Amino acid sequence: MTENSTLLIRSRRMVIGDEVREGAVFVRDHRVEVVGGYELRLDADRTVDLGDLPLLPGVVDSHVHVNEPGRTEWEGFGCATRAALAGGVTTICDMPLNSLPVTTTVDALRAKVAAAAGQCAVDVAFWGGAVPGNLSDMEGLLDAGVVGFKCFLIDSGIPEFPPLDRGGLRAAMKAVADYGAPMIVHAEDPSQVTTPSGSSYDAFVASRPPVAERRAIETVISAAAFSGARAHIVHLAAGECAALISAAKAAGIALSAETCPHYLFFAAEEVPAGHTEFKCCPPVRYAVNREALWRALGDGAIDAIVSDHSPCTPSLKGLTSAGGGNGDFRTAWGGISSLQLGLSVVWSVARRRGFSLADVSRWMSAFPASLAGLPSKGRIAVGCDADFVAFDPDASWEVRGAELLHRHPVTPYDGRTLTGRVTRVWLGGAEVTPADPPRGRLLARGGRPLGV
Ligand SMILES: [Zn+2]
Repeated sequence: MTENSTLLIRSRRMVIGDEVREGAVFVRDHRVEVVGGYELRLDADRTVDLGDLPLLPGVVDSHVHVNEPGRTEWEGFGCATRAALAGGVTTICDMPLNSLPVTTTVDALRAKVAAAAGQCAVDVAFWGGAVPGNLSDMEGLLDAGVVGFKCFLIDSGIPEFPPLDRGGLRAAMKAVADYGAPMIVHAEDPSQVTTPSGSSYDAFVASRPPVAERRAIETVISAAAFSGARAHIVHLAAGECAALISAAKAAGIALSAETCPHYLFFAAEEVPAGHTEFKCCPPVRYAVNREALWRALGDGAIDAIVSDHSPCTPSLKGLTSAGGGNGDFRTAWGGISSLQLGLSVVWSVARRRGFSLADVSRWMSAFPASLAGLPSKGRIAVGCDADFVAFDPDASWEVRGAELLHRHPVTPYDGRTLTGRVTRVWLGGAEVTPADPPRGRLLARGGRPLGV
């Protein structure tokens, strides 16, 4: 979209706030200028009438491991953002690991920005990392534009990103409290995690029980109460923790939580032996737990659904190809690849439970945008960036891992039939495809351009 050009999109099923209704959106110069009824009469350089095809705000995926620089053989900004675009994700927030360097200093952020610049097909923002010993780097990282900080309470799997202990968590949260930036926490308590007793998936699940999440979330709640900082639980897998989170919210603690498509779609009972493409931490638990997570989304205990896209090479999964079932759950890298699939995966199972596209959009666009402090993202509203997705909610299609734009084809969704497909995407008012030259921007907290 060129300077001052205009675009009008009509749809009889537009997600506006908490509603799906007839509407039209008028865009000038990359941003939404008017949101009106379907018959809105305004002259635009270009008019698109989607008819009954729904229009959603672009998905904001606030939990993506791009791994570049340093582990670019796992994933990278070019392919990750093209995959995002294909899946209707118009903004991603990159995690501070597993890149090298990890994003725990301003210099490391500079290295990441240099790696990302010019190759992003969607908008990208960055989390900083909170690790032992980098308290003095946090203010600089915030000034430079990270959207908040990620920390672990348990071994992250890579030595350069060690966990915080309770004291370290409190100190780090105290440091971010004045900025209003969130501390997002991988919440598993190492004292409750054991070595798997065997190679089966059940043994792996048993080694990382719900109580490990519960104890860690208690630690986060007490640190949030102590510091006054905003805390967010990443990839909540144990549904039983919803009550704890709701109680903390009711007590006025600034706490939120996300879960992921894989916890809502799969169940431990159906993970085949050796299929380590299903391995992630915390693990995909049993079907009864999956239903508890859905209830927690329904009652607002869980606020968001994000991919936690965390790919690696097939060999680190212990797999020789796109699957194959020859992996070992004890040694395989933990992480599930799904950036391109999240919206379709979630819609496939949300619709069966009676949720609407507005619910899905709240979980996958509006909340992640607010968590990351990106007020112009995640909504179709006046003043917001013109990032939209046309989504056919009834299209049925089969996932082929090898056809996805992720760097590697390994994904547990390979061969699954999904309902709902992204058909068109607009980024800043321009209709874009993964084949187009990259036009994504690098964003700082607040939505300003990132410059370090
Ligand atoms: Zn993650």
